[in-house]
Amino acid sequence: MPTAVHYKEEDKKLIRRAYRKLLKSIQVEDMNPTDRANIRKAYDLAVEAHSKQRRKSGEPYILHPIEVARICAIEIGLGPTAIISALLHDVVEDTEVTLEEVRETFGDRITLIVDGLTKLDGLYNVESPQAENFKKVLRTLVEDVRVVLIKMADRVHNMRTLGAMPRHKQLKIAAETDYIYAPLAHRLGLYNIKTEFQDLIMKVKEPDTYRDITNKLQDTEQKRNRYINEFIQPLTKALQDIGYPYRITGRPKSIYSIWNKIKTKKVPFEEIYDLFAIRIILDVPMKLEKRICWMVYSIVTDVHRPIPERLKDWITTPKSNGYESLHTTVVGPKGQFVEVQIRSERMDEIAERGFAAHWKYKGISTGAQADVYDNWLDSVREILENSDSDAMEFLSDFKTNLFKEEVYVYTPKGDMKILPKGATALDFAFSIHTDIGYHCAAIKVNNKLVPMGYKLQNGDQVTITTNKNQRPNEAWLKMVVTGKARAKIRSALRENRRKQGEFGRESLERKCRNLKIDFEENVDTLVKFYQFNSRPDLYFGIASEQVNLQEIKENFQVEGNKLVPIEREKQVVEPETPVEVKRPRKYEGKPRLMINGSLDEYEYTLASCCNPVQGDDVFGYLTTHAGLKIHRTTCPNATHLMANYGYRVMKAEWVISTNTSFVAELIITGVDDGPGVIERLSRSIASDLGLNIRSFFIEGHEGYFEGKINLLVANTNQLNVAIRGLQNLEGVSSVTRLETN
Ligand code: MN
Repeated sequence: MPTAVHYKEEDKKLIRRAYRKLLKSIQVEDMNPTDRANIRKAYDLAVEAHSKQRRKSGEPYILHPIEVARICAIEIGLGPTAIISALLHDVVEDTEVTLEEVRETFGDRITLIVDGLTKLDGLYNVESPQAENFKKVLRTLVEDVRVVLIKMADRVHNMRTLGAMPRHKQLKIAAETDYIYAPLAHRLGLYNIKTEFQDLIMKVKEPDTYRDITNKLQDTEQKRNRYINEFIQPLTKALQDIGYPYRITGRPKSIYSIWNKIKTKKVPFEEIYDLFAIRIILDVPMKLEKRICWMVYSIVTDVHRPIPERLKDWITTPKSNGYESLHTTVVGPKGQFVEVQIRSERMDEIAERGFAAHWKYKGISTGAQADVYDNWLDSVREILENSDSDAMEFLSDFKTNLFKEEVYVYTPKGDMKILPKGATALDFAFSIHTDIGYHCAAIKVNNKLVPMGYKLQNGDQVTITTNKNQRPNEAWLKMVVTGKARAKIRSALRENRRKQGEFGRESLERKCRNLKIDFEENVDTLVKFYQFNSRPDLYFGIASEQVNLQEIKENFQVEGNKLVPIEREKQVVEPETPVEVKRPRKYEGKPRLMINGSLDEYEYTLASCCNPVQGDDVFGYLTTHAGLKIHRTTCPNATHLMANYGYRVMKAEWVISTNTSFVAELIITGVDDGPGVIERLSRSIASDLGLNIRSFFIEGHEGYFEGKINLLVANTNQLNVAIRGLQNLEGVSSVTRLETN
């Protein structure tokens, strides 16, 4: 170590040992001489540059970049360029070394990466430096994915060594990791790193629970291993007969996921049956992967009975982050449920290392697999291009669009489009092409007309009809969730406003000429008087008739070249007397139900989440604070309640009576051909069906309408008649009862 003269002898030893460990793990002897020499140069430069710094733990700072380089190589699987960049990742930010010096020695590529890893300076005037920096990292991500992978390695090491930090800093770093890095790791398919992040976050946030679960896992290890053996034993013969090498592991699940189960299922550790998953990994040629994985599935399920609903085939359709695997849950010995994951070695590497492994297999990967990351990178690029300068907004767009799971939908020609979960039909239109979005006039899903705000479901086939006269309006902003669509609609609205504003400006200029005053001299007086924020706002205000130019004479007098507001006494506005609002009564008479076979023994109320109607299939659920609630069995809450709190569920049956009425909520969609719709609907309900409307809300979107009607009905028969009747009306395309509000 020629340069590191500033280090004490004991530190030198530590550093040398760390460096040797790095070299050994990356098998430096097998690298080409240039890479080898550059790694050494990067190491020397970093050792020298960081010589005056120490980490919070007291150890020499240089140990951090060395370890980050090792994580890049071993845990993410990156090559020499990343190793060199990782060694240098903090020198520009923390030391005297400049980017130019890095460029002279290591060239453009590594400089680009190091620059991406260097925090922005001069971050004053910025609300969230964290968000700004993250945006910068992503910008570089588009140019070189390694930036974000090294950033991950950096974060992993910082999280692992968090113990030396004061508690409040630990919490802050953990929260950041939770907000951005863990979801990003998930998105990049860095499964191991994501899991470790979650565990380390929990270790900071809930240290006691973390320790508790760790101990319990250790205590039960032997018992678990015995069980796993018992599970595997009967499979081995058949697996060997396939003729390809395989491994079976039975790893416990992460502390975090166990804790999650304890919380959501509200059961103690001792009652969690699936503390581990069995993984069967086969070393097979790529073209046989799928066939052999299903063969293994067949072998496993011959011995252990499968639970069909738990079968997940991510081999035929990989997850959006590239994950491929075949999962199933079977009933193992002693009736215990066991999750089994079946995959090839290649799939396993992708599952553990995600993005990085993807590059390695890029050349040979199948279409779907290879497209996954390219599509993702495209959407990152898109968000970057469309995002305004506001970093916080960018970050939230990024989170909603790129961390969420996706829906898969199809174009009329059968091309698959991937959109974030929750995306609407209008988002789809914008995803095809901006112009198609702008002029989108009608949308059909699976050949049925839907409102623009329709939430896409997996497998939907979407057809867009455009009309060149169609233009985006304010309401559209509420009907999209993707960053791209939102940005495009906003810019169209802005453009529209600007165009309209031009008319406003022209009329103002005319007015000024009439009054024989100078435009430039007076326009700001008007902006201020009418309380606008800017001139364009005033112009738009004039164009949209918020400001009446005729009133200028009433509000101003002309003094020479200038308008001067006329002083008036402030008017005192009398407070209006509050109007008494009558709330509609919920039920005309009290509905009667038999609860657990007896009448009038229990007090109960109808659940407001699903509004049961006399005749519906219902059950009673004993709440902790609100007494007995009656839910529909189709209520989305029902599955959860019944599965988890079976002991609180009570049988409930209607005692049919005629003088009771119930609220039923209907969603009606259809073609809006003018003002006739509301009239037709209300006439049909009131006159033809003889029902009372409690509330009626209708919204038109360019030729389509979506209405929400609350009806008072006596029972499900009446309700079904009403639904059928409304469905037959001209222009109505769907009538559905709301499952839950
Ligand atoms: Mn660092």
